[in-house]
Amino acid sequence: MVIKSRFQITFPNCSIQSWILGSCSGPLPYPDNKAWVDADDPENNYVTYASARLLAKRLAAGLTAHGLQPGDRVLVIAGNSVIYPCVMLGIWMAGAVFTGANPGYLARELAFQLRDSDATMMLVAPEQWGVALEAANIVGMPVENIYQLDNTVPDSKEDDHSHDPQHWLSLVASEEKGQSYEWQEPADPKSAICALNYSSGTTGLPKGVEVTHFNLVANGHSTVALHKLHPEYKQRTERAAALCILPMFHAFCQGYYISSFPHEGIPVYIMQRFDLLKMLRHIATFRITKFLAVPPIFVAMSKHPIARKADMSSLDMVGSGAAPLAEETRKEVSNLLSSSGEKMIREGWGMTELTCTGLGWDPLTPAEVGVGELMPGCMAKLFDLETGKEIFEPGVPGELYISAPALMLGYWRKPEATRQVISVDADGNRWLRTGDIAYITPKYSAGAIFRIVDRAKELIKVRGFQVSPSELDALLLERPDVADAAVVGVSINGEEAPRAYIVPMPGRPKPSEIEVQDWVKDRVVHYKRLRGGVVFVDAIPKNPAGKILRKVLQERARIEVEKT
Ligand code: AMP
Repeated sequence: MVIKSRFQITFPNCSIQSWILGSCSGPLPYPDNKAWVDADDPENNYVTYASARLLAKRLAAGLTAHGLQPGDRVLVIAGNSVIYPCVMLGIWMAGAVFTGANPGYLARELAFQLRDSDATMMLVAPEQWGVALEAANIVGMPVENIYQLDNTVPDSKEDDHSHDPQHWLSLVASEEKGQSYEWQEPADPKSAICALNYSSGTTGLPKGVEVTHFNLVANGHSTVALHKLHPEYKQRTERAAALCILPMFHAFCQGYYISSFPHEGIPVYIMQRFDLLKMLRHIATFRITKFLAVPPIFVAMSKHPIARKADMSSLDMVGSGAAPLAEETRKEVSNLLSSSGEKMIREGWGMTELTCTGLGWDPLTPAEVGVGELMPGCMAKLFDLETGKEIFEPGVPGELYISAPALMLGYWRKPEATRQVISVDADGNRWLRTGDIAYITPKYSAGAIFRIVDRAKELIKVRGFQVSPSELDALLLERPDVADAAVVGVSINGEEAPRAYIVPMPGRPKPSEIEVQDWVKDRVVHYKRLRGGVVFVDAIPKNPAGKILRKVLQERARIEVEKT
């Protein structure tokens, strides 16, 4: 049974920068509204739509003058800042492709993304400069192609870096050149890639997800179409303010805080890093109405007594995504929101491969169970995991397949990996195998409401971030005292954590658990650490073709952890 979204709408076919800003040189819909604001310095460090467009056009003009060609990849490694979205817009205006790396990455992880994306230029925040140089050295990227970004809006009088060749302002053309710069709309927004967001998908190492201009526009357009169903949409949008703590390199942030909210003229207050007390203060001070985050943040909110005293009355859209939200947390956070506009937290579901959101809520349906219904223009099917047969009954779980206007073009330079997850039916619809197990609820008043019950794929999610078990297997195999290794996720106090099974190399001294954990810690970003432990075994369970039987190890891990 094909389940279709209740909402069949048409999608604009334009560049993402045109969709966000409205026009290249003509009047802007909200020229003087603040677009992105530093929540810690809201009076001084912000950009309006007019200033963001001008800065981005100046960057686009400068990038082009520096020889950047349409389709070239520019890697950005930086924490969230008001500059970050302007840089993305500038890259898009120049016709190039943005690829964002996690600012917590260590050199080998960044080198992987640099090499895989084949980026020709890297823009780096001061905090990531050392790691960036190390990574560039590993892949042989010339130092001249690396530029230091600021976290604050440039002030031409105070610090003029335009003559420092290593500073990003040397890439920013003059105001006159920026003003007269006209970006070229992509000939075909459905095939023009604007971003490579990294995801390991259902299996293997992280891969570059090719997000097209049309994908990002379609995702945003769907989100806005749902917002518009609210009878008070206009009033709500006029007073709206959004708080952003999601990382800008990730699809979840891009879908809302970089595209949909700015398209609606909603100011986005940016936090560099999570701090619960500050976050609650910002919600009250800026009268935040829109707030989206990952489950650990809502867990922190629900557990801290101060949250009960905080003023959250301004909120009218609170959403969780990227990982499952525990029922207890959902209830507790909804209680905290009793004085707010919607009185509830809504859980959605998405995937980098779907640009951002696949399942979500319209603002009128109470979100008591599940992750919502199909976003506009989407279709879904469920397949039995064992028989592979299509499921027709509500309540019966199966692997979720989705067809969506925001479905990625494919994995960057990986046609085989793309074929493994995208298939085309007789009607020409492209379907994504999600690797998630879901069912539809037996009763529903709106569209079919989905519940996600498990994951069939090997991906591990820690604090909403992806951890690819294959990446950690490969890392462990670099140790001469490791003969074989397999990593799986295990739940510890409701949080997933990577746990390694290791076959020691015969004839070598066996390392200790701590030694292996510390060694991994020195090589990967914090959330990939082996917090779930290290276990030494005689053999890794594999099928006759040599594929690791991760489900067997996952079950073993679950039992072992339960016993401790
Ligand atoms: P990412 O591409 O990093 O956004 O990760 C996508 C994956 O995160 C999905 O395929 C799911 O496994 C998981 N995920 C996202 N949202 C949810 C949710 N609400 N409940 C359960 N898992 C989720």
